[in-house]
Amino acid sequence: MAWPGPIPSSRLRLASVYLAVIGVILYGAGYGLFGLLMRANWTAVEREVETLAGTLHDSLKPLLPPEARPSPQLARVLPGLCLVGEPCPSPPSLLPRHAVSITDPERFYVRLLDRRGALIAHSPGSPGDAPRAKVARPDTVWSVVTGQGGERFLQYAIHLHRSHTPAHQGAKPTELDWGYLQIGRSLRGLETERERLWWATQTIVVLALLVAALASWWLSGLAMRPLLAAYRQQEQFTADAAHELRAPVANLLAVVEAHSTQAPADQPATREMLAVVHRQGQRLNRLISDLLLLARLDAPEAAGPSEPCSLVQIARDLIEETGEAAAAAGLDLQLVGGEQDITVQGTESDLYRLVSNLLLNAIQYTPSGGEVVLSLRRERGQAVLEVQDTGIGINPVDQQRVFDRFFRSDPGRSRRQGGTGLGLSIVAAIVRRHRGEIFVVSKPGSGSVFTVKLPLAITPAPPAGSAAGRR
Ligand code: ADP
Repeated sequence: MAWPGPIPSSRLRLASVYLAVIGVILYGAGYGLFGLLMRANWTAVEREVETLAGTLHDSLKPLLPPEARPSPQLARVLPGLCLVGEPCPSPPSLLPRHAVSITDPERFYVRLLDRRGALIAHSPGSPGDAPRAKVARPDTVWSVVTGQGGERFLQYAIHLHRSHTPAHQGAKPTELDWGYLQIGRSLRGLETERERLWWATQTIVVLALLVAALASWWLSGLAMRPLLAAYRQQEQFTADAAHELRAPVANLLAVVEAHSTQAPADQPATREMLAVVHRQGQRLNRLISDLLLLARLDAPEAAGPSEPCSLVQIARDLIEETGEAAAAAGLDLQLVGGEQDITVQGTESDLYRLVSNLLLNAIQYTPSGGEVVLSLRRERGQAVLEVQDTGIGINPVDQQRVFDRFFRSDPGRSRRQGGTGLGLSIVAAIVRRHRGEIFVVSKPGSGSVFTVKLPLAITPAPPAGSAAGRR
């Protein structure tokens, strides 16, 4: 489908705004999920290290030598540990089964420190091995330590106690503060997982954005459809208006050009030409005023002065004004109702125009001997105005279109009678502006009824103590 005028750029702008909003939401949700998953992984690693540290502490407690210093006795407690100041045993012998996992030098290290925090033993490959390795303070429970080759470890430190059974019988065994146990777990696996999750999030978000871009383009197309329809209607209106204006102007020019070849003293011909020019000029004038009125009614800001207007008064005035035209057409024109006052809120000149257009149409499309009735009544908080005629009627297909601009059932007849084809669209615009509704019921050959419903004006309550108030 080809999109006219400024519509494509507006659609692009709308789609971009949709995409930006969806993009922010997607990125927010993606990174939120990424953060949650990483947090869960981190917590799992912490739990694992805590459990290992607890188990190891409980196993070492009864075996620790009284003195916290590098000694052969200490080397026997945790075989495979390197004592500070001595070469590491190679290959390291196996630790007890419960600590098998921490002997994996790729993933874990263990360090023993005395009460002052001085390192006394460590597993091979622990960060304490490297000459410039950063050693975290022993009382820091959780820390991240960078080891050899820049590898990072999550380190957990706890106080190490030694079980002490007193010499005399019956006394309770006590626990003596021995030093510190530090367990480090490599973060390499976690960082690989983080990288994997990061790229997975990026890929999913980018793919989702591509789908969102297509969806945004489609949604903006849907949103622009009513605008497109309004734009097309506007274009059609402009084309029709230009077409309608061109015919009378062409006629004027033709008459003027034809007359310019004739003798200037030809008086009757001059008069005839002036009559044609006058007629066409009047038609142009009517058309242009109707177009201007429609433009005013269409403009959202031009509400016009709103005041209480008596429909009864307007109907009486117009019955009087159009009486002569009705009599000339051999029609019986009547006003029914209007005994009680019917007031609506609006613009009086527009309401005059509304009723007069309906009455003049009824007179225009009713053959001699027919009847035109204007009736007024109140119905469920609304003013109901009906213009009924016994004229030519409107066929059902045309009934849908009579309120369209420049629509005429019989263009030749309408033009001959001086109609612009805008009368009913002006009526519909005035009704819309007064928040009312209009519909037509018609039977070809029998006549038509145009019904207008307008909200009644809210009348202020009579002052307390007035005659009406006392009744
Ligand atoms: P026009 O200037 O042609 O009267 P309108 O907008 O007032 O333009 O009316 C549009 C068309 O509706 C008319 O051309 C005519 O065919 C039809 N129409 C309007 N009122 C009546 C009516 N009372 N009876 C029959 N046809 C009508």
